[in-house]
Amino acid sequence: MFYLSEFEFYLVAKKRQYAPEFIEYMENIIHHKNYKGLAIRKNKDGDWSWCADASDVRESRIKWAEEKKKELGIYDDKFVSLFFKIHPTKIHVCAVCGGSARIEYVYLNSSLIKAIQKQFSMVFEETDDVHDVVEELSLEGFSEPEIKQFFIERFKLDISDTLDCDVILTICEYRARTGKSKDLGPGVMSNFPDRFDGYHTYNRCCRQTADKGRSKDNMAKYGRDCRAYEYWSDGNIVAALPLDRAGLQIAFDIGGLVVAPYGSRYLPQPEEDEDRDEFGG
Ligand SMILES: [Zn+2]
Repeated sequence: MFYLSEFEFYLVAKKRQYAPEFIEYMENIIHHKNYKGLAIRKNKDGDWSWCADASDVRESRIKWAEEKKKELGIYDDKFVSLFFKIHPTKIHVCAVCGGSARIEYVYLNSSLIKAIQKQFSMVFEETDDVHDVVEELSLEGFSEPEIKQFFIERFKLDISDTLDCDVILTICEYRARTGKSKDLGPGVMSNFPDRFDGYHTYNRCCRQTADKGRSKDNMAKYGRDCRAYEYWSDGNIVAALPLDRAGLQIAFDIGGLVVAPYGSRYLPQPEEDEDRDEFGG
């Protein structure tokens, strides 16, 4: 066991890879018929360059997407609807932790968390799916009419409360996805043409810590900050490193090499992320 210099740490980190679940996800998406013809290359190590690493790849992806929109009759300015529509499973895998999340707007934003807490005195998190929340409220003893009424009022829906709860939630999701409500957010944000599938590599699960701040100290502090990982790995996300947040110690094995402990204040300063978008709410 020994200490690495900043430069050595950076080199070691560059060799880290995406979470194995994400690598499997990439393979499935790349080979799915819905993405046939969409540009992607392999890097010198033989791995897929999920991120558009050259301007000709970006241009080719945009051209492909414009054609695809015409083919499917999608007429909005952006590419969000297209990549939502063609996603075969609607489930996106997080490249950092390997967890799965829905691409639909089914996750609670802070405004809705507060409203639910006020109404039902129950505390939920931003990674909670609204369908699971309804189930938990039912288990807690709240009646179905009471729960339905809450969502109908909250999302300003002009519908009958005799509709099934699932139908009401589907309408809530659609309102959020089309910008009519900020109460629900997606499991992953859009990011085309930078990423092959049109979504950021990291999901909501690993975004929360990143949103707490972008100062050097914070970027170094939050062990699961995807942008920090992406910076270290020059576009290839570093797999989740076991990081002791209290002690800011890193210990991991890389081909027999053990690194520990190492003060994260020595991590390089991340660059600005131009295409960064926010969760609503
Ligand atoms: Zn994650």
